[in-house]
Amino acid sequence: MTSSIEIYDTTLRDGTQGHGISFSVADKLRIAERLDAFGVQFVEGGWPGSNPRDIEFFAEAKNRTFTHARLAAFGSTRRKDVSAAADDQVQLLIAAGTPVVTIFGKTSPLHVREVLQTTLDENLKMIADTVRFLKANGKFVVYDAEHCFDGFKEDTPYALATLHAAEKAGADIITLCDTNGGSLPNDVAALTRLAVGELRVRIGIHTHDDIGLGVANALAAIEAGATHVQGTINGYGERTGNCNITTVIPILHFKLNTRSVPPESLPQLTELSQFVDGIANLRPNPRLPWVGEAAFSHKGGTHVNAVAKVLSSYEHVDPASVGNTRHVLISDLAGRSNIVMKAKELGFDLSADTAHLKTMLAAIKDLEHQGYEFEAADGSLTLLIRRVLSKARAPFTVDAYHVSMRSEGGTSVCEATVKVRVGDERAHTVADGDGPVNALDAALRAALATFYPQLQDVRLTDYKVRIIDSTTGTAATTRVLIQSTDGVAEWGTIGVNENIVEASLQALVDSLECALIHTAAAGA
Ligand SMILES: [Zn+2]
Repeated sequence: MTSSIEIYDTTLRDGTQGHGISFSVADKLRIAERLDAFGVQFVEGGWPGSNPRDIEFFAEAKNRTFTHARLAAFGSTRRKDVSAAADDQVQLLIAAGTPVVTIFGKTSPLHVREVLQTTLDENLKMIADTVRFLKANGKFVVYDAEHCFDGFKEDTPYALATLHAAEKAGADIITLCDTNGGSLPNDVAALTRLAVGELRVRIGIHTHDDIGLGVANALAAIEAGATHVQGTINGYGERTGNCNITTVIPILHFKLNTRSVPPESLPQLTELSQFVDGIANLRPNPRLPWVGEAAFSHKGGTHVNAVAKVLSSYEHVDPASVGNTRHVLISDLAGRSNIVMKAKELGFDLSADTAHLKTMLAAIKDLEHQGYEFEAADGSLTLLIRRVLSKARAPFTVDAYHVSMRSEGGTSVCEATVKVRVGDERAHTVADGDGPVNALDAALRAALATFYPQLQDVRLTDYKVRIIDSTTGTAATTRVLIQSTDGVAEWGTIGVNENIVEASLQALVDSLECALIHTAAAGA
């Protein structure tokens, strides 16, 4: 490892400005502790001057111990024409009790004149006074130069004067911010190089992803001499988001041979990403670099064949090095290697010369042709492989069902009747639901509950319907994908039919059969 780069996480401040992101105080504390354990150097907890929740967060955080990370409170330079000490927002930064305070100030003359509506000189004083006041109160001060790259383009001498004002007043780090996220890597590199040459303090970089260059711009600044990078987990943030540090951290480690977080934390990266998504109640983005579910997926037969022989042939690093896993996708592009690797992933021991392989591949290709899509339906695929391998009898069969629907005074009522058979025993149940599939699910579950009480814990977490052949209108084939969980495992199942209820029933039956396999395995 050569040099070292500081990671400054702003998931709890800039990240919370993102679409659909909201954290309670307890959420923020959990994330802060997790980031600390992971080993980032700074955790920005919030802006005490902007909302009471952040004040509460800092009050709670005082009772916690952080090992790796130093907690930062975020705010702005003092208001114009008052002293820093007389500014309530600045006083709240002191009251937050954090070792680090980060303040942003204006770099662009346009913003000073039009937004702050003050003079260029007063802006320099606002920066210097605030930094000096915070330093006098014993804080480690990070100065964020807002709209820095735009400011440099507009008036380079003035932009530099703002940075000098912060440095002279004692700022410990000066961060160049691409607040609007529209800069290009070449410009970011050139201006960072200029700032690094002019100033003696550590230079940081804070970028946004508005044109898809958040990470690229941060790396350009690092190449030009910045040694502190700000960003968020999974790239959360306003508009299209901030620089994604779950991308930056492994690039620094694996591609630039530069130290940031402790190397032993890297295998926890995927878990960290999913943990934060979990708290934010967001479905993880499968296409995220390094940590996304699809980051190390192999679909085409030739790729999978090559990966089976030499792992590095289609993988830039070992997925386990960032805590991710290799996934083999099954589709009509699949070859024998896909099936063998997928079967291994699902816990079956197959080899390329297993006798049943040809039957399996033919069955999968035929079903895919009919409209099945096993990529999102591991559960159904597991059942298919089991049926071919063991010719095991299904744990239950649905002998008959009936679904009816009527409308009464503006509300619709659905009722389903199901007859199931388990061995020689039969059950016959009726249930209501707020839709035909819901009613069918309730009836089926009630019928099976007498035989398999463990099915009570199974829940549907997602239900997706897609029309596959749109040329035939309402007679088109319907594909139903169901995602289910028993609170521990999660699995996907699929049904395909011209009739949406029939397709749903297939997916439901597969889902419950998978649940029985899972509970049997868990009990073993
Ligand atoms: Zn920002």
